[in-house]
Amino acid sequence: MSYAIDKIREDFPTLHQEVNNKNLVYLDSAASAQKPKCVIERTDQFYLKDNAAVHRGIHHLSAQATEMMEQVRTQVQHFINAKQREEIVFVHGTTHAINLVANSYGRLALSEGDEVIITEMEHHANIVPWQLLAKQIGVKVVVWPIEEDGTLSLDKLKSLLNRRTKFVSFTHVSNVLGTYNDAKKIIALAKQQGARVLVDGAQAIMHYQVDVQDLDCDFYVFSAHKLYAPTGIGVLYGKHDLLADMPPWEGGGAMIEEVDIYGETTFNAPPWRFEAGTPNVAGIIGLGSAIEYIDKIGLAAIASHESQLMSYALEQLAAVPDLKIYGPKDKSGVIAFNLANLHAFDVGSFLDKYGVAIRTGHHCAMPLMKRYQVSGMCRASIAMYNNKADIDALVTGLKRIQLLLVG
Ligand code: PMP
Repeated sequence: MSYAIDKIREDFPTLHQEVNNKNLVYLDSAASAQKPKCVIERTDQFYLKDNAAVHRGIHHLSAQATEMMEQVRTQVQHFINAKQREEIVFVHGTTHAINLVANSYGRLALSEGDEVIITEMEHHANIVPWQLLAKQIGVKVVVWPIEEDGTLSLDKLKSLLNRRTKFVSFTHVSNVLGTYNDAKKIIALAKQQGARVLVDGAQAIMHYQVDVQDLDCDFYVFSAHKLYAPTGIGVLYGKHDLLADMPPWEGGGAMIEEVDIYGETTFNAPPWRFEAGTPNVAGIIGLGSAIEYIDKIGLAAIASHESQLMSYALEQLAAVPDLKIYGPKDKSGVIAFNLANLHAFDVGSFLDKYGVAIRTGHHCAMPLMKRYQVSGMCRASIAMYNNKADIDALVTGLKRIQLLLVG
């Protein structure tokens, strides 16, 4: 079956508007993806009809909201092939999930002198929580540097792994370079050394079929808003035996078993132990709807469309004079570049005048900017609804800017 790109575009209302009197060309989905109508309508319906707090109510709406939320947990379980639905913790996003693991698992299982390996291509969300932990309990953050071509060398990882390595935390796909990291091999190497592994799936989850059992990762994290679902919701997958041992990180309602103000408070089982307070129920239900939508089209079909579009984009961009593209030739989802010595903000502002939305700046990856000795980069990203016309608009815009400002 051919990929119904026009029909898919129709499903995304935000794409059909003018920006600066030009048709919007949205190439910033790696920052946040647009939402299909079904997700918006489902979320609306929740507020129009279904709204209630989950867990604590005995009345119909509350029980129904609880059931709907718990069904999404099962959907997510199947989406990433987790063994049990109790391995799915709802959090605010990738950032929240990594902080949870660093603070809960980190404080439980790591101690002074233990080493945590992260890569040079991490988003700040997978750097700073480990640095904070280092300050608090004295673990050492070890950096796995990237190669010239923007990839990671497994030999280099082997040389960093040692008996003090207790944790490896890395991104599945780089949000700047588009590098796809061979998570299975990295995890296997870390496991040989007895280290636990977290995979930051923020940039992979919308492009690849993730199978956490096949990967054998201990933790896998992602944000729903990059998966065509609402903001403010994310997923932490954790192996059940690990979650079962982990202490709560945030305290409040829903995460307790029994609260004794004078004595000992006891805690709920995972995943609820890690879900203190009223969750973003509408967001969770929207996530369920996004997964249904993706499943209907098929991630394999989406991936194939995106990869063809990526090849087309790289081909067309090669014809733009003075354009430098960063990272490996094989890219997933994102293309980072600079045009001559123009500041990324200038290029981004000009493109915006042409209706083309890209991301500019350090992309929450300052160490990478330092590595490439630039203050920032431009980044165009590709999602299931982008087409060749989007790429053509980007390329035309860049050629114009080159003529106007570089000459
Ligand atoms: N990791 C990566 C690789 C990302 O691309 C992002 C989002 N830019 C994050 C983590 C943080 O995600 P969030 O802001 O949704 O928590």
